[in-house]
Amino acid sequence: MAFLNGPRLLDWANSPPHLQFNKYVLTGYRPISSVQDCIRSLFYLHNELGNIYTHGIPLLCFLVLLPLNIPWSQISVTWLGVVHFLACLSPQLGSVLYHLFMNHEGGEPVYHTLLTLDMCGICMINTLGALPIVYSTLLCYPFTRSVALLVYILLSSYAIYCAITARNNVRRLRSFAWQALFRFSFFLLRWAGVGGGSPTSLRHFLTMDTLALLGGIINITRIPERFRPGLFDYWCNSHQIMHVLVVGSILYLHWGVLDDLLWINSYHCPLD
Ligand SMILES: [Zn+2]
Repeated sequence: MAFLNGPRLLDWANSPPHLQFNKYVLTGYRPISSVQDCIRSLFYLHNELGNIYTHGIPLLCFLVLLPLNIPWSQISVTWLGVVHFLACLSPQLGSVLYHLFMNHEGGEPVYHTLLTLDMCGICMINTLGALPIVYSTLLCYPFTRSVALLVYILLSSYAIYCAITARNNVRRLRSFAWQALFRFSFFLLRWAGVGGGSPTSLRHFLTMDTLALLGGIINITRIPERFRPGLFDYWCNSHQIMHVLVVGSILYLHWGVLDDLLWINSYHCPLD
């Protein structure tokens, strides 16, 4: 990745205070930069490069491949496919912007705006990503389905507010917890045979949430860099591991939703 000679990188103690959020990453901090210099940092090695590319490359792949991979002609509820596509893109988009421009010369206010954008991306996949799950679980109960979709959107809006105003990672993770609980209640309905959905999708959704939870825990516990500060400054630190797990989680969401969308098309409710 090191095509260009970058500026002199800073160590933790000399980096801007608002970028000192991981005391186990000791070196490789970019200095305060203009927009052009932030973009230029795509081409030399620094401690955010791995974070940018672990979401940047999947973002480009999803942008091109997902629309081709969704069998539009076999989907009867087209808006669910569109919502799903937007859901899959949103976390990587917010993340790439956050990691690329976090050292912008606008300082702390710009940093917090970017962090908010990153959080919004996660909230969007939690919110939009769950709508096809709710829809197919309650396929045969149209009124309950509409109410559940509305309630989920309203409560998610409150979670977004909590996440973007949270002052630390633990609080942020907590604000997503109730959304996970809501999803989990739908998984329970499916498991109990009350809710609809493809028989194969539940396994995908459970894997999705397991990977996302694991990523969140690794990120807040700063494993592995807390055991060897400085060794993982550039590669394989907790945040990069979380990014990779998030991409895996999105793939499982995609496979589960695809199964469900095809199932909706072929299933006939008993009362129809
Ligand atoms: Zn990130």
